[in-house]
Amino acid sequence: MPILKRRMTMEYKKSNNVTIRTEQKPTPLKEWMAEGERLFGKDFMQWKFRCPMCGHVASIREFKEAGAKDPNVAYQECIGRYRGAGAPGAKDGNPDGCNWAAYGLFGIPNDKGRLILSEDGTVVEAFDYAREEVEP
Ligand SMILES: [Zn+2]
Repeated sequence: MPILKRRMTMEYKKSNNVTIRTEQKPTPLKEWMAEGERLFGKDFMQWKFRCPMCGHVASIREFKEAGAKDPNVAYQECIGRYRGAGAPGAKDGNPDGCNWAAYGLFGIPNDKGRLILSEDGTVVEAFDYAREEVEP
């Protein structure tokens, strides 16, 4: 008889006090950073993230070049926000990305992004690494 595994839905608090319910287990910040280093190396500028809404991949360097002041936006904002792009799902296929932000009202739809567990115990919704860029 196969054993049916039921995934647990858990509740987590975001730093803005919003509670999210998800089946995803948050990744501790340190593990998440180690994962980035394993995928892309020690130079943060080379780290790439995929927008969960339009699929656009951008490196932290590209964000800087597009005018982002804070490198941390690379895992929470689509680069389209710095290129004047519109909403995800545009007719033109979002060649410049879209205007999505993980910290926005809607967050990231279930299973499309990552949950990162901060050291203060809150979770942060983040875009996932563009791992297919380095892994076959
Ligand atoms: Zn996007």
